[in-house]
Amino acid sequence: MDRHLRRVRTQRLIFWGVALLLCSQLGWWISLQTHETRRFEDARIDQLKAGRAEAWQLDTKDILARLRAFPAVGLGPSIQGRVVVEAQEVDLPPLEDRRRAIEARFPYVAVVAQPVADDDPPLFDQSAYITLRQEPLKTLTSERRRALWGVAAQGGFMALGVFLGLIYIYRKLNTEMELVLRQRNFIATVTHELKTPIAALQVWTETLFTRELSEEKKARVHDLMEKDLARLTELVSNLLEAARADAGSLELRLEPLDLQPWLQGICEAMEHRLSPGALGLSIELGKDIWAMADPKALGTVMENLLSNAYKYAGEPRQTTVTLDGDRDDVFIVVSDRGNGISSKEMPRIFQPFYRVGNELTRQVPGSGLGLFLSKEIMLRHGGDIRAASQGLGLGSSFTIRLPRLAK
Ligand code: ADP
Repeated sequence: MDRHLRRVRTQRLIFWGVALLLCSQLGWWISLQTHETRRFEDARIDQLKAGRAEAWQLDTKDILARLRAFPAVGLGPSIQGRVVVEAQEVDLPPLEDRRRAIEARFPYVAVVAQPVADDDPPLFDQSAYITLRQEPLKTLTSERRRALWGVAAQGGFMALGVFLGLIYIYRKLNTEMELVLRQRNFIATVTHELKTPIAALQVWTETLFTRELSEEKKARVHDLMEKDLARLTELVSNLLEAARADAGSLELRLEPLDLQPWLQGICEAMEHRLSPGALGLSIELGKDIWAMADPKALGTVMENLLSNAYKYAGEPRQTTVTLDGDRDDVFIVVSDRGNGISSKEMPRIFQPFYRVGNELTRQVPGSGLGLFLSKEIMLRHGGDIRAASQGLGLGSSFTIRLPRLAK
């Protein structure tokens, strides 16, 4: 068993390693994609700016070509729309024509009177500035935003996929770990549960055959032997039934059952078996309530519940059994004023081999199969079983529901 435990622990370690690796890979992928998207969009803006520079160059080249037509040596300071060449004034083409020419060739630039961006260059003659139009810039910005959202969405989906996958695997591993622990616990419990009555029976048999006992003592030993045998029988039958339930071969023999007299009989037999008065039973059974049920299997459920009410409550016990019904269903409630069950343990008590892990209940004999088996039996009856408790020390109640048989 320890080998299994080690294996599951190693699997858990591997799981954490893989989870860490996947998360870091995912983080790396998202940052890479974001970086690449930004770079790509920046490159497109640079392209536009290069176009703006080219527009400026062409315009400037055109002006220089015109100036070269004069046999001038140098250029003087410029004034708007004109350039002074060796004190001669050279007329340049009207700004409107130049603007049209530039904008026809470079649709994404505009010639404007004032710079829009800090790096908008002035025309050669300083008559205007060349700037990038706002529309393509806006388009680029919104494309960039969309691309970044795309990366975020992809990353989010991947992260969600990885997260769900990891949760699934983690839960599987946890379940396996719980199972291994429960099986280990089960073997220890069952070994103890088998050994204790067998050892006691051995002692009683030896005592009966080797000693002279008074009739009164013999009767007492007989009583104790019966109790040990009952404990063994209950354990073995629970084990067999649970194995059948697990294999899906738990078969019921359903028959119409008048629940009131039947329950009365079960409660009395249980009282007698456990020791008269020990359960502190009070019974309130509605009359003429019928259900299709397997008396033997339903008897196992009731015995498990009553035996638990006995095992998990200190003296003086107060156990109540009620039978009630509405138009469709029948309800049998077994409640006690015993140890109670915490809300944390509540969802687990119907799992096979599960025993609440506090010292109080661990000292009590049991295999952790009774409630599992009871649930399986009730489900096969088309009903169910539920537990409720106000909390530790405040008692518990178990409600069995069965489809009602109209009579
Ligand atoms: P077992 O009694 O053999 O341990 P069960 O399947 O009958 O196994 O019960 C599972 C666990 O639920 C018990 O170990 C106990 O901790 C808890 N339990 C069941 N019935 C009661 C009850 N009436 N009061 C308090 N705890 C209970």
